[in-house]
Amino acid sequence: MIYYKTSEEIELIKESADILGRAHGEVAKLIKPGINTLKLDKLAEEFIRDNGGIPSFKNYNGFPFTLCVSPNEQVVHGFANERELRDGDILSVDCGVFYKGFHSDSAYTYAIGDVKEEVRQLLKVTKESLYKGIEQAVVGNRTGDIGYAVQHYAENYGYSIVRELVGHGVGKELHESPEVPNYGKRGRGTQLKEGMVIAIEPMINLGKKEVVQESDGWTIRTRDKAPSAHFEHTVAITKDGPEVLTTHKYIEEVYKF
Ligand code: MG
Ligand code: MG
Repeated sequence: MIYYKTSEEIELIKESADILGRAHGEVAKLIKPGINTLKLDKLAEEFIRDNGGIPSFKNYNGFPFTLCVSPNEQVVHGFANERELRDGDILSVDCGVFYKGFHSDSAYTYAIGDVKEEVRQLLKVTKESLYKGIEQAVVGNRTGDIGYAVQHYAENYGYSIVRELVGHGVGKELHESPEVPNYGKRGRGTQLKEGMVIAIEPMINLGKKEVVQESDGWTIRTRDKAPSAHFEHTVAITKDGPEVLTTHKYIEEVYKF
């Protein structure tokens, strides 16, 4: 069942998204070789709680952290740990905030220090594919139009699209209907209507599309261990077109790609 949001509810999601955006910005300030991801997770949790929010992911089906931190070949749902980030790593940071009854959800992938050119391009193209998807998030289109746009753009570079994990509705629940795959056919899938709020979140692999789950029961990584990137925004479908409710601006004020 799809829950359509009123404009007042969309304003509340924006408030949640503002805390989320600023939490991402705080994390971005610390991302450099030598820091471990447990420190990033602790900082994000403190920032969100200090601002009246609740970390959406912590305790979600038992997930133990505020952030999903997924380096290199990890796709999503990685655990924070004491391993230090190294020059040449990439790191996907996914976070959600619950505030005034509503969730917001966004993700960003960082290049740490001197990252190989082919991997930098993966990050750039994955981010661009997110915006190709967002362009299709208009009343009357279908989820397949979003998926097609993401897939078509990324596959042109020879990359592959993760199938097992998809975008989703966002609202009172972190994950609502409909599913928003990053692949698909134009004109297929759920029709987009005013008041829908969806997370669009391309997960794009440099190598093959297959993924496996690690023994921790959460972490998803590429089967071929080639790098994977992930960018995400929470987007409202409005009569005036897509409205991106989350923001990467606080990240990009301090992090230069
Ligand atoms: Mg997310
Ligand atoms: Mg999501």
